[in-house]
Amino acid sequence: MTPTPTALEALLMQRTLSDPELLAAAETAPDFRILPDATVLKIGGQSIIDRGRAAVFPLVDEIVAARRQHKMLIGTGAGTRARHLYSIAAGLNLPAGVLAQLGASVADQNAAMLGQLMAQHGISAVDGAGLSAVPLYLAEVNAVVFSGMPPYKLWMRPSPDGVIPPYRTDAGCYLVAEQFGCRRMIYVKDEDGLFTANPKTDKGATFIPKISVNEMKAKGLQDSILEFPVLDLLQSARHVHEVQVINGLKPGNLTRALGGEHVGTLITAD
Ligand code: ADP
Ligand code: MG
Repeated sequence: MTPTPTALEALLMQRTLSDPELLAAAETAPDFRILPDATVLKIGGQSIIDRGRAAVFPLVDEIVAARRQHKMLIGTGAGTRARHLYSIAAGLNLPAGVLAQLGASVADQNAAMLGQLMAQHGISAVDGAGLSAVPLYLAEVNAVVFSGMPPYKLWMRPSPDGVIPPYRTDAGCYLVAEQFGCRRMIYVKDEDGLFTANPKTDKGATFIPKISVNEMKAKGLQDSILEFPVLDLLQSARHVHEVQVINGLKPGNLTRALGGEHVGTLITAD
């Protein structure tokens, strides 16, 4: 006997896939998190990895020690090499989709390096953002390294303002955390968190320990320490409603943040 179709099934056969009643019916299933115990870290490209040994080695030590207690997906930023590529490619008037591929290649390079540094501890870098073996790596060694750029490549949605890809590694790492329903998203950068202005160029800038997306936008800080699309992603999130930005140049900050302490800035969805 063929089962009678559910209300959702019936709607799916008849309506457009953006029909409001269909969308509401698709929302009734209980929430499910794929990796609820894991934390996603983003290790900044320009802010951390480009500084080389002095910045990277202490963080590797903290990560290796922390994985006794925490499950971590470690995403990489791109940084200065990507900016150099963007300047050349934009000068040649190449499109956002090509720049996205170039940027991804640099995040890949950083993931490859971080993976080699942690190899002796059994921590591997996984290729691309396929990420299909991540659960196995987390189950076995509590950590895995991935390349932070989202794999939109040529299909990167272009910005109306120019050819620089709007979804880069801050967004890529956030999306991994959100889709997997992870516990936390921590950005490891080179300032104590969000300030009222860029602390590198404005000496009067003051530190903001906690702020909502709307407050950030009201203060004109929507394009500052995180790529701006992350703020909108946060506001439409199902799982990760808050991200933390910490200074990875200060030893112990990452360990404290992983332990749930409020170091750095918390940016909340509301
Ligand atoms: P990543 O290395 O992860 O790509 P970025 O270099 O893109 O990190 O972002 C971090 C930088 O953002 C900081 O080094 C800082 O100079 C800059 N920045 C700009 N505006 C602000 C702000 N209002 N508060 C803190 N940092 C800011
Ligand atoms: Mg950046």
